[in-house]
Amino acid sequence: MDLEQHIAEVPDFPQKGIAFKDITPLLKNPDAFSVAVHSLMHHCADLAIDAVVAIEARGYLLGAPLALLWGVGFVPVRKVGKLPRDTYQADYELEYGLSTIEMHRDGPNAGERALIIDDVLATGGTLEGAIRLVEQSGATVAGLGVLLEIEALRGRDRLEGYRLESLLVV
Ligand code: AMP
Repeated sequence: MDLEQHIAEVPDFPQKGIAFKDITPLLKNPDAFSVAVHSLMHHCADLAIDAVVAIEARGYLLGAPLALLWGVGFVPVRKVGKLPRDTYQADYELEYGLSTIEMHRDGPNAGERALIIDDVLATGGTLEGAIRLVEQSGATVAGLGVLLEIEALRGRDRLEGYRLESLLVV
């Protein structure tokens, strides 16, 4: 199945110059959604995962079914101020300026192997922030998984040294 057919590109959203990759058509198609989740699962099958860490908000849509299929815990990473208990924090670079993400301190346990999931890899700043959160907890980043990688933005270069699985590279 050509998953790319199920991703809509929206020019100049949310701001001028950004070609937004909208995965909602894929989510609405049960075959495409299933193929996406199962393909990510197969790509990461050798990683011996103890936990899935997924990034707000679209990362949850892939990360939660993966965690259930593997029978491992799901840990959310959220924008600052949303998680109610003690957190680790990491600043990360946006295209313009900085932002902060958080993860509960009782997320992955020290020594566990975490797979970090998001929908799209662009510049890599968000995944880099999530890596720092997992590493602060004493867990190991076993790998990174995304549905779609925008190659021209070179996020992969920034994530060197980590196993990165992208279902689609555009
Ligand atoms: P980055 O930190 O630059 O790699 O951006 C990745 C994060 O921003 C992911 O959580 C994506 O959901 C979102 N994102 C960035 N660029 C796009 C895009 N062109 N289309 C859809 N989502 C994007």
